[in-house]
Amino acid sequence: MTASLDAYWMPFTANRQFKKQPRLLAKAEGMHYWTPEGRQVLDGVAGLWCVNAGHARPKIVQAITEQAAEMDFAPPFQMAHPKAFELAEAVAKLAPEGLNKVFFTNSGSESVETALKIALAYHRARGEGHRTRLIGRERGYHGVNFGGMSVGGMVGNRKMFGTMLSGVDHIRHTHDPARNAFSQGQPAHGAELADDLERLCALHDASTIAAVIVEPVAGSTGVLIPPQGYLQRLREICDRHGILLIFDEVITGFGRTGSAFGAQRFGVTPDLITCAKGLTNGTVPMGAVIAKQSIYDTFMAGPEHLIEFAHGYTYSAHPLACAAGLATLETYADDGLLTRAATLEATFAEKLHTLRDCPNVIDIRNIGLVGGIELASRPGAPALRAYDVFLDCFKEGLLIRTTGDTIALSPPLIIQTEHIDQIVATLRQALQRVA
Ligand code: PMP
Repeated sequence: MTASLDAYWMPFTANRQFKKQPRLLAKAEGMHYWTPEGRQVLDGVAGLWCVNAGHARPKIVQAITEQAAEMDFAPPFQMAHPKAFELAEAVAKLAPEGLNKVFFTNSGSESVETALKIALAYHRARGEGHRTRLIGRERGYHGVNFGGMSVGGMVGNRKMFGTMLSGVDHIRHTHDPARNAFSQGQPAHGAELADDLERLCALHDASTIAAVIVEPVAGSTGVLIPPQGYLQRLREICDRHGILLIFDEVITGFGRTGSAFGAQRFGVTPDLITCAKGLTNGTVPMGAVIAKQSIYDTFMAGPEHLIEFAHGYTYSAHPLACAAGLATLETYADDGLLTRAATLEATFAEKLHTLRDCPNVIDIRNIGLVGGIELASRPGAPALRAYDVFLDCFKEGLLIRTTGDTIALSPPLIIQTEHIDQIVATLRQALQRVA
């Protein structure tokens, strides 16, 4: 590489440390990345939870290339192009029954902002403008914009900024290693944690609450799997009080847990779904909000000459993203990828849980093709063990992700058993070396 490392301010990165020890990726195909020197790295995290069909899929590459030549951009306000409608229809077909209106964004963060604004505007349109309060969850991650940061529950992402949206509150998180350590799939204990929403309903008066947003599986805060019955209970409480339930499926969307969406895997239908990442297999930035028909209808009930929802992005339904999305969904269908995580879940779980006897491992969690390995933190030391494991794995040819002292795995859904073996073997050695 000829450029200096000076000018690029890297996101969510230890910039100064990185520049001393750069980790560059230059090529990707299938299950692998290659460094500029040609060293092969197994992708244990689908890039960043997004490349579900594996890298450089020819159909997707071709669709993007052709679209770039055919029409580079089309204005999305008061204008549209055919692929926007095609992709919306294809996404709606995958969504749980009743969620059939698709609003396009460019990222997970934008999807979250959009969903929160839909929730607020929906209640106003129904004459319930007093519902302004938004409820998130401790240890939730909903992107980095002001709405998502505010409903999010990650101290590290909030404390630098001070100002948050007002009128936001949080229910308790569901991480309970004392009762649920080393469970496979949905943990047995903790459905009652959903009742924390009742506490907030009592505290604020339920009629002030517009929406509750949760990730069905919290990924970025350590792979927290919903306890059995928990999401059902949240749904019941929301229904009882007229509160919208938003599932942030930026990670769980598009096959990660073994169904198209986590909503289907867990058998709970929210009012709004946010998604991104896997929608275009990570190739072109794109997100979406999928809304219930009844929510859409509420917006459409007003006078016809007005813009029904004063919200949107220059790049909403970008032609390149729509082309990529259509080819991605076809690729998922061609290869049966949206249910593949369910097929592989038992094998993945069995192999992952063999790491239980490795040094410092205090919990292992999994569902579909997502895994979390939690390590005991070093007493008093700021340097995280999991980060050292990440560095060691990268040296040994495996890309993983860490959040706090939890190692997160979310490989492309095309993964084969030998890749799972390689992930587990590399992690085992890294855990031993770091100890
Ligand atoms: N919500 C969830 C649940 C996520 O996992 C993420 C990203 N990991 C986001 C929102 C934000 O997405 P983006 O980085 O595309 O803005």
